Amino acid sequence: TYSLGAKIDNWDEERKIWLSQNQDFPSVVNGKARILLVTGSPPGPCDNAIGDHYLLKSIKNKIDYCRIHGIEIVYNMAHLDKELSGYWAKLPLIRRLMLSHPEVEWIWWMDSDALFTDMVFELPLAKYKDHNMVIHGYPDLLFNEKSWIALNTGSFLFRNCQWSLDLLDVWAPMGPKGPVREEAGKILTANLKGRPAFEADDQSALIYLLITKTEWMSKVFVENQYFLHGYWAGLVDRYEEMMEKYHPGLGDERWPFVTHFVGCKPCGSYGDYPVQRCLSSIERAFNFADNQVLKLYGFRHRGLLSPKIKRIRNETVTPLENVDQFDIRHSAQVTT
Ligand code: UDP
Ligand code: MN
Repeated sequence: TYSLGAKIDNWDEERKIWLSQNQDFPSVVNGKARILLVTGSPPGPCDNAIGDHYLLKSIKNKIDYCRIHGIEIVYNMAHLDKELSGYWAKLPLIRRLMLSHPEVEWIWWMDSDALFTDMVFELPLAKYKDHNMVIHGYPDLLFNEKSWIALNTGSFLFRNCQWSLDLLDVWAPMGPKGPVREEAGKILTANLKGRPAFEADDQSALIYLLITKTEWMSKVFVENQYFLHGYWAGLVDRYEEMMEKYHPGLGDERWPFVTHFVGCKPCGSYGDYPVQRCLSSIERAFNFADNQVLKLYGFRHRGLLSPKIKRIRNETVTPLENVDQFDIRHSAQVTT
């Protein structure tokens, strides 16, 4: 049967020894657990040229968020395992990064079609101290409805530990491209509410695993207090209202942390929504986020659909006052 690689069963001990021998690579820096954000896109160009432009916007958005919050970032374009192509590619990648970066405490996967829309909000990591996986979702949809959208694998975190390696091992077997993935898709569609008939995807496979082997749940934190993943359709038309009533740093429906363009496939040829609606919505999310970054420099976009910017402050002979007032890193410290 399929395997992600040589079976490792003593990672926690090995990693602990490595950390004690490599004190220049601490897993906690300035009191914060080291986080590595991982994202990526297919090895070749998008089917549609505009898709590559949106991949660029998407990585710029992530670089901005990570720079502000001291998070490292990996952009992957390779299929480390040719059997686990497409949306399954994140599994061997996450495993590889855990093993190659023992100094990293949390690996945070984020889809290319998900954007940070709250540049101030920070993960409440203290809340997850007894958990090894953090994923957005709803326990009721998971255990009562067995819904195929109970959890979303577009943005989730794994602690770098043995438990996570074990979970990846039991998650992967439905992934190999071809008959295995096709047959597994039938099992998933038969068992998960609302799932259309198609090959096995990583999200459905995880949901199916957690509802059939519930013992895994003890270390999974199902988060819905803020949008670790936020479904775009209910959010993108409300950005103006949010700007009027609220402020970044909230992370929830008042100012969503992440807006995820599920079903849009800007880099592929066909999605579930009209292309123009997707592209203009992504543009709005990008500019909504970019305004929060530009504020430090005294600019903002003319509108959420405009790449053009305008000045919002005059030049001054006392620039440090603006740094103290507008640098997101200051407000980030206040909210956590
Ligand atoms: N992806 C990747 N390499 C690939 C295909 C996909 O890294 O060859 C990543 C990409 O970041 C994408 C994510 O996997 O956003 C999820 O795949 P997809 O977009 O097909 O699924 P969706 O997010 O629409 O459910
Ligand atoms: Mn996605």
